[in-house]
Amino acid sequence: MTLSLNDSDLFRQHAFVGGEWKVSGSGKTMTVDNPSTGETIGSIPACTADETRSAIESARIAQIAWRRSSAAERSALLMGWYQLMLDNLDDLATIMTLEQGKPLAEARGEVTYAASFLKWFAAEAEHLQGSALVPTADRRIIVLKEPVGVTAAITPWNFPLAMITRKCAPAIAAGCSMVIKPSELTPYSALALAVLAERAGLPKGLLSVVTGYAQEIGPELTSSSVVRKLSFTGSTKIGALLMRQSADTIKKLSLELGGNAPLIVFDDADLAGAVAGTMVSKFRNAGQTCVCANRVYVQSGIHDAFLEKLAAEIASLKTGDGFDPQTQIGPLINEAAVAKVKEHVDDALAKGARIVGKPLEINGRFASPVLLADVTSDMRIAQEETFGPVLPVFRFENEDDAVQQANATPFGLASYFFTNDITRAWRVGEALDFGMVGLNTGSVSMVSAPFGGVKQSGLGREGGALGLEEFLEVKSFHMGLP
Ligand code: ADP
Repeated sequence: MTLSLNDSDLFRQHAFVGGEWKVSGSGKTMTVDNPSTGETIGSIPACTADETRSAIESARIAQIAWRRSSAAERSALLMGWYQLMLDNLDDLATIMTLEQGKPLAEARGEVTYAASFLKWFAAEAEHLQGSALVPTADRRIIVLKEPVGVTAAITPWNFPLAMITRKCAPAIAAGCSMVIKPSELTPYSALALAVLAERAGLPKGLLSVVTGYAQEIGPELTSSSVVRKLSFTGSTKIGALLMRQSADTIKKLSLELGGNAPLIVFDDADLAGAVAGTMVSKFRNAGQTCVCANRVYVQSGIHDAFLEKLAAEIASLKTGDGFDPQTQIGPLINEAAVAKVKEHVDDALAKGARIVGKPLEINGRFASPVLLADVTSDMRIAQEETFGPVLPVFRFENEDDAVQQANATPFGLASYFFTNDITRAWRVGEALDFGMVGLNTGSVSMVSAPFGGVKQSGLGREGGALGLEEFLEVKSFHMGLP
């Protein structure tokens, strides 16, 4: 198929290893398809364990020089890269919609969001500081913040650019190098980002993008004693596997894993605001984000009015190809994702839920948005992340029950609630056992805020000032005085 880009050089079917664009020595490739049509977009090299080791070795050498770079140099590299992302916004969005399926307007939004991490950490690079202590007359202590060293990132397909810049921007700002393994489903966004990094003056080997099979590349990254940190975004199952694989080398880990986000609407909420917030939280990326509302609890006094208004909003959503400007819900990423949506809806209906509005329609990888009412906690949809455009509504009577049900999950990433009662706002906000809480908003992803979860949703925080700390080691430097 022909891909129409302003700058066709951004579309690369080579891996970026140690500053060179390469095919795999093994001769093996993987194909990448367009989830909207199922058509093949192109192929990528299936890099071997040896090639991954070579990327790690280049990262080791590059980091020796980069750790001595000045704050101004780090910042300038990131700002140059940021500008190039904005200059190439249309092409980056086109590549993303082609391989990931999200509506072009959302893809454009992600390019801007992804670029914002480069800008944010360009500033953080210049603010990096330690401290000095004078505990006794004969002792001075300087607390230094030093780069962790060589790092690795394994990233998912749902945000093909932002999940990479959220990791590599703080790494570069801190003085680290990084080997990135992007999702095999969305590698072209990652490779386009690498083209722009190279144009921005990225030192050779400082970042590599190793494409191919996770089972071949992953164990090399986790078992390497040169790689001092792994930052992963993906499923809890794979996060746990990587944690086990990283144990022997005591690697530092940042894990951003699955969620099962509750969204609670209290009787005293602003109805229009709650409906709008629920739509934003649920249907972004066709419901394929780890912070999408997965369980919506609505108090009985507002329940029927909320359902009615929500059903009207959902009825107006248009499902289709991401390049169609009318489209609000694109395709799901693959057949397995569609099958899961169908299973969750069938299971809920079998256990007594009902559909409000149109039934689920499946066509290839497209699943139409569905509103379910009378959902209960014994249904699969209550316990697992659906990762699709299904909105299940639970009815509740009192606050304690709602909070207790919201917290009744092994996950703890995002949560949302809507109320106009200030005392309730504090009480519920503090009682929700989640890394992120949205009050009267359906979105919690902003560059300035720490992003991450508690319980089985992960370790560490990305973004904000804390995002930089994850790539820094602390050294206490003691000086004895005579
Ligand atoms: P999802 O279910 O959202 O696809 P995954 O956790 O399977 O999430 O995938 C997220 C990232 O983890 C992708 O880059 C994928 O290739 C990678 N991955 C999957 N399995 C493994 C593995 N065994 N080792 C290392 N990385 C893996």
